[in-house]
Amino acid sequence: MHVKTLILGAGLTGLSAAYHLEKKGDRDYLLAERQVQPGGLCASYTVNGFTFDQSGHLLHLHTDYGKKLVKKLLKTNLLRLKRRAWIYTHTSRVPFPFQANLFALPAKERQACVEGLLQAAAQTPKAPRHFEDWCLQSFGKPVYELFMRPYNTKLWGTSPKNLTCDWCGPFVPRPSTQEILQSASRPPQKSYGYNAWFYYPKQGGCGALVQALAQNLHGLRTKTAVTQVDLKRKTARLNGKTISFDHLVNTLPLPEFLHMLEGEARLSALAERLTHTSVLVYNFAINRAVKPFSWIYFPDEQDPFYRVGLQSGFSPFNAPQGTSSFYVELPGTTPRGKGTEKRILSALIQKGIIDIHDEVLFSFWQTLPYAYAVYDKRRSRAVRQALQALAKRGCFCAGRYGKWEYSFMEASLLEGLDLAEKLV
Ligand SMILES: Cc1cc2nc3c(=O)[nH]c(=O)nc-3n(C[C@H](O)[C@H](O)[C@H](O)COP(=O)(O)OP(=O)(O)OC[C@H]3O[C@@H](n4cnc5c(N)ncnc54)[C@H](O)[C@@H]3O)c2cc1C
Repeated sequence: MHVKTLILGAGLTGLSAAYHLEKKGDRDYLLAERQVQPGGLCASYTVNGFTFDQSGHLLHLHTDYGKKLVKKLLKTNLLRLKRRAWIYTHTSRVPFPFQANLFALPAKERQACVEGLLQAAAQTPKAPRHFEDWCLQSFGKPVYELFMRPYNTKLWGTSPKNLTCDWCGPFVPRPSTQEILQSASRPPQKSYGYNAWFYYPKQGGCGALVQALAQNLHGLRTKTAVTQVDLKRKTARLNGKTISFDHLVNTLPLPEFLHMLEGEARLSALAERLTHTSVLVYNFAINRAVKPFSWIYFPDEQDPFYRVGLQSGFSPFNAPQGTSSFYVELPGTTPRGKGTEKRILSALIQKGIIDIHDEVLFSFWQTLPYAYAVYDKRRSRAVRQALQALAKRGCFCAGRYGKWEYSFMEASLLEGLDLAEKLV
């Protein structure tokens, strides 16, 4: 069998590439997906009448095309929501972002944060060597110690000293020194961050977007796993059968893809330099509607999780009336089981997020094996070398895992368009 374009992986990136190829009248492609359903990390699940995403999956749309496409696909099935997010430290509940809401801290910590910031601002700025330097220069030591260090250590599974700052531009709000100082006396006048407002499907969870993209794709093949790719011969093994192609699009995790390459030992070796984190998600529902919020960050070491989201808060259709559903994100190294469940629930009760009298209706665990590509010092060179070499061999890598970067759903949608334009 031969196709003009073979797309590996029907997550949002692969689906968007196929969707845009079809829009341009090109049906000579095959979109291979290992799972029974398309969608990858954006697929949603219905459990006992509740809709769950894979942790939180909210649409952050910042481009005209991204908004236009999502509105075209979801039509009236779309909500626009304002972020309601906090950080719980051992002493306080601070609105997100921490660094722009110092007013919410106890007086002693607030004063220390102000002094630390002033000290940092008085230094001559130097090129940061790592994310720790970047935080210390941007916010001062107390903000770093209270939030940035412990939270990011949990999230990335390593010290901020081991991370570069290539990723933080779009993801870590950086108010000016003056704005941070002002925030010590009053709440900020503006919203910070890429996620201050977001979109979410009214019904069907994030998976509604997947369904809308996938519904008329002629070349989508689920239960189709790729195991080997030969870039010289331009062939791939799908479910044990060989298929040839003119162009290849990879959205699979880059290290896995590099290991699938035939006769490319040097490229495969680059995979050893790429590390990532996994996320363990504890999903549960209770028999009471809690006060709405979007998500809450937990930097403190004694809390086993680092973020908790209210799934039922994103849409009234996500949970039956009078109930609430939550997702709790923990480092992927945390053991699943009763012990962890008990620690999670008692920490949530202690913080007043749920009540001791609430009944847990059901719960289930999910592991997301690929969560964050770790931006350590070896990543950027290895990724650059791999992507350049692959592009020379006619293989385009795309998406958060194909390009081994920190990106989000809108980027997947736009990359799909970009690929289709290149390929047609
Ligand atoms: C915890 C977490 C929370 C997130 N929250 C948000 C959010 O709120 N908003 C946002 O915009 N983004 C969020 N993201 C990012 C978002 O999930 C990704 O940017 C997006 O889903 C990437 O889509 P993709 O198609 O590139 O990759 P994936 O979704 O990983 O798709 C890859 C596909 O390849 C398939 N595959 C793998 N191996 C094979 C094989 N051998 N053969 C065939 N198929 C294979 C997989 O089954 C999968 O379907 C979050 C990510 C994580 C981890």
